[in-house]
Amino acid sequence: MVDEGELRRRWEKTVEMLSREGVIKTEPVRHAFLKYPRYLFVEKRYWSYAHVDEPLPIPAGQTISAPHMVAIMLELAELKPGMNVLEIGTGSGWNAALIAELVKADVYTVERIPELVEFARRNLEKAGVENVHVFLGDGTKGFPPKAPYDRIIVTAGAPKIPEPLVEQLKPGGRLIIPVGSYHLWQDLYVVEKKGDGRIRKRRWGGVAFVPLIGEHGWKE
Ligand code: SAM
Repeated sequence: MVDEGELRRRWEKTVEMLSREGVIKTEPVRHAFLKYPRYLFVEKRYWSYAHVDEPLPIPAGQTISAPHMVAIMLELAELKPGMNVLEIGTGSGWNAALIAELVKADVYTVERIPELVEFARRNLEKAGVENVHVFLGDGTKGFPPKAPYDRIIVTAGAPKIPEPLVEQLKPGGRLIIPVGSYHLWQDLYVVEKKGDGRIRKRRWGGVAFVPLIGEHGWKE
């Protein structure tokens, strides 16, 4: 078993590589990555792979995203302290921990699989993250109790942009979401809600996520 010092050194190299390649662009994202290494959010048997820039398995047949993918979405979100952020697809809780570090405020995250709600809560507690609130539910409906949001980040692939998520954005708010096919590729979209309520969509490029399953997503 690799010791924690070695896991941390490997992780620092990954962060260095992502910074050198221009994937991590800003100091706050780099700082958040260094504060919460990915190995803290995977099962022990995957610890020694946590620094590798690829997705890894988490319970219930789901995945924790590749570090470069998480960095790209966080940079596109341009998170600032004090923002009200909703994440859809908690998975391991890693991305939510990074968001919380960037906004320095409470973060709400919704997961549809009960086993993963527990997994994420355990990981977050072990990592010492106190301001992430994990809820069980269908995130395609958003999370009305804490709306409207400055940012909504969806970490599963949707067939189309779920209307409730657009409704729950503040004017000037931004939704980051992969949209495309069930099994293969999606396009990552940055959806901006203008002051007058109109929507502007920007396509970032091709990505591959597990499906977003729910009332306004794929059917089970
Ligand atoms: N953000 C996660 C992390 O940091 O580990 C990785 C997310 S994983 C790629 C996608 C997650 O979305 C899975 O855990 C899956 O169960 C969840 N999911 C799929 N459809 C959902 C829905 N309608 N509502 C909430 N979560 C959903």
